[in-house]
Amino acid sequence: MRIANLAGRAVLLHGDRALDVETASDGRYGPDPMTVLDRWSDFLPWTSTANPNTATQFDPSRLGPPVPRPHQVFAVALNYPPHAAEAGYRPPTDPLVFTKFPSCLTGPHATVELSGSRVDWEVELVVVIGQGGHHIPALRAWQHVAGLTVGQDLSDRHVQMLGSPPQFSLAKSFPGFGPTGPALVTPDEVGNPDDLEISTILNGEVVQQASTADMIFPVTELVARLSAICPLLPGDLVFTGTPAGVGNRMVPPRYLTTNDSLVSRIAGIGELHTTFSQSG
Ligand code: ZN
Repeated sequence: MRIANLAGRAVLLHGDRALDVETASDGRYGPDPMTVLDRWSDFLPWTSTANPNTATQFDPSRLGPPVPRPHQVFAVALNYPPHAAEAGYRPPTDPLVFTKFPSCLTGPHATVELSGSRVDWEVELVVVIGQGGHHIPALRAWQHVAGLTVGQDLSDRHVQMLGSPPQFSLAKSFPGFGPTGPALVTPDEVGNPDDLEISTILNGEVVQQASTADMIFPVTELVARLSAICPLLPGDLVFTGTPAGVGNRMVPPRYLTTNDSLVSRIAGIGELHTTFSQSG
């Protein structure tokens, strides 16, 4: 199942058509995309009974972030060995975790205002929690995942490196720095959810390309380790880290400009199309 946020309303996507959840359920679910996550364990079985015949064509530019107001957003640094190496670090032995403050979230067709001249890209698989939990064992982690989506962890490298030691969360939380979407896709839709091709295409050039199977801490391990400390709540997001190929490790470094068109893609899930405007 593919669940999206169309202009603030939860919809089920069927190809290029959308079925409004509140209308199709006679008011039982929706319209707020957050409320379907709160009731995930009875909402999900309902989705397979919804009649897709009343789905209608829609304008993809009206899609918002599939989870617009998560309680918690976890983000993991250096979770792919080649990216840890390009950043100058050995692979971590424990997940390195920061947050993207939820006000940075935006949808899959956003124009994002650049915060300065050193804004970089990081495509990431984003996990959406369905049923929450504390101390979730890795073996049961997928049962707590509502679905997967594509995320861009846009990062202002100047702000990120200002402190000593540097701290990441604010530099990655300017408005629009968390494009997500195009939909929340349930794990059964994507083949092997632990082995998905993930890539960034900048102006038609592939700059990041890997498999999520390369992650040091896979989804199950991240859910277990995070929930061992923080109780996870419905709709929480986990940005699971980016593969190699970010701009600030290129020679010479390359950063996003207003001329750029950024496509973030995960096979079986979809694409984000992000463009940029000048800082005000
Ligand atoms: Zn990241």
